[in-house]
Amino acid sequence: MKVVTIPCLRDNYAYLIICEATRQAGIIDPSEFSPVWKVIQQQGITLVSILNTHHHWDHVGGNQQLLTKLPDLKVVGHHSDRGRIPGQTHYLEGDETINIGQLRGTWTHNPGHTSGAITYYFEEAAFTGDTLFAAGCGRLFEGTPGQMHHSINQVIGSFPDHTQIYFGHEYTQNNLEFAQSVEPGNRWIQTKLEEVRQLRRSGKGTTPSTLESEKLTNPFMRDHSPEIQNTVKQQDPSNNLSPASILRVIRRMKDNY
Ligand code: ZN
Ligand code: FE
Repeated sequence: MKVVTIPCLRDNYAYLIICEATRQAGIIDPSEFSPVWKVIQQQGITLVSILNTHHHWDHVGGNQQLLTKLPDLKVVGHHSDRGRIPGQTHYLEGDETINIGQLRGTWTHNPGHTSGAITYYFEEAAFTGDTLFAAGCGRLFEGTPGQMHHSINQVIGSFPDHTQIYFGHEYTQNNLEFAQSVEPGNRWIQTKLEEVRQLRRSGKGTTPSTLESEKLTNPFMRDHSPEIQNTVKQQDPSNNLSPASILRVIRRMKDNY
């Protein structure tokens, strides 16, 4: 398997997943047509599927033009996104596998950012869309703090630590600066922030992360940290410090950061 990262729009990432044995490929979240089409042609692959993590326009914006070029494409998304994902042909509902050439992918339902949000898994890679970012999570547009906490920590978080996290937006530097503000004593955040600033200064992206790195630096996976709990208590003295209540306060602080 080969993954090609395709920067789109202002800060989105589409990802081309290539089965090297067959040269068939799938595209995760084609935000827009032109940059995706250029990479497809450069790579000389046969695109067989569009895999959408959720229905937002900045993740499905290229679907229709890709379908105009390749009318037989499968367009995969959660069954509850029926009518919201342009051109959708496959409605994930159970334990379907997703085939790209000889690659066999799986998926999990991750409500929180949207009700139909999903993560795709191929080999050691997870494509998390706007659910889990490096050092962050998506805004709660259609879900509760409890749902987002479960999606990130119990569902995605149950995969092996070395799982590569391919996220939907390049928000990492800002996310780490926020993470540092709510957990200033965390030396993993400090170290990663220095690395990320260096990467961004030289025009590079920060995807993928790993689940291990997220467990150490992502404030939405660190409700066990006494420093995070302290920050939450300062913001919201009556907070009961349940994982969902902690996520609610940290998410609200990030919304206003
Ligand atoms: Zn979104
Ligand atoms: Fe997005």
